[in-house]
Amino acid sequence: MKKVLLNEDGRLEVVETSPPVTPPGGVLVSMRAATICRTDLKMVQSGQRDLSLPRILGHEGVGEIIESRNPLLKIGTMVAIYPGLFCGECDPCRMGYTARCEKIRIYGFNEDGVFRSIVPFSGEQLGSLVAFPQGIDSEQVVLAEPLACCLSAVRKFQFAKKERALIIGAGAVGSMFAALLRKQGWKEIIMADKNPERLSRELPQGVEVIDTSSSSLLERLTNVGIDLLVPACPGGLDFHFWKIMNPGGCVSFFSGNYGGKKLQPIDMNAAHYKELTLAGSYGCNIGDFRSALNMLVEGKIDLSFFHFYRVPVEGIPEGMEVLSRQEVKKIIINQF
Ligand SMILES: [Zn+2]
Ligand SMILES: [Zn+2]
Repeated sequence: MKKVLLNEDGRLEVVETSPPVTPPGGVLVSMRAATICRTDLKMVQSGQRDLSLPRILGHEGVGEIIESRNPLLKIGTMVAIYPGLFCGECDPCRMGYTARCEKIRIYGFNEDGVFRSIVPFSGEQLGSLVAFPQGIDSEQVVLAEPLACCLSAVRKFQFAKKERALIIGAGAVGSMFAALLRKQGWKEIIMADKNPERLSRELPQGVEVIDTSSSSLLERLTNVGIDLLVPACPGGLDFHFWKIMNPGGCVSFFSGNYGGKKLQPIDMNAAHYKELTLAGSYGCNIGDFRSALNMLVEGKIDLSFFHFYRVPVEGIPEGMEVLSRQEVKKIIINQF
């Protein structure tokens, strides 16, 4: 079998290795589909707060149980992998916020991830496996994790109205976020990106686009009024975003501020008088992961606008390069 390792020297390496043994009370999962996330690319290029090396990367994937030492999980069961390894007992876990678990470990970050042919799960790790019905195409459900991250972000708000949303960044997650908001009944969805090419393809139908390479968001949107603002880009919110928000508006700190860009201090009075809600979001909770998986299994969200670029597991380094050139929005690994 193969595994893709990010070494301590920052080199991504495909390694041939012997298959794992089934842990006591656990299972072996043979990977069927996985995707490369922008975060994986960021890890290779510049590291990540929760990453420790050397590490098998990958936190978005689905597979089939091929060995089991657990009577509740039968061979042949299809499973989606929730990337958080949570305790289930701490206060955040009990409240359903498993992404904030006090003992959280994350596959592909500080636990070995899914960029390998076979992944072992011990008895203690089985809470990360969510079964889905046989006969569902693995590629149809492989985006459960990023979709769940979008669900976790919007769940933090109580919207007064679902009038106009602005998503900054037209990459995979931004586009998926737009599809989710469309599904949730938002009337007007605007996507902004400084790469006009990304605004020309792989978007849900009916979204409006703003090319920020040629015009400033503030200029375009002053007097327009935004009810939900989502930065889905590494730049963060490096402009006076409160000026375009409607009273009662919501701002999701969905993506972090990478690359050392200096952020604007927030005008507290604007947040105060407009009664803005600002909420951070990192990863997804197990409940949102189950909901996202269900949506995909039941075909309740249309993500058919994506044109997947497919690579085998040994093609992950090439896939990372394709992703970094922004030629496609999502890379799928479909052979292990
Ligand atoms: Zn991801
Ligand atoms: Zn916990």
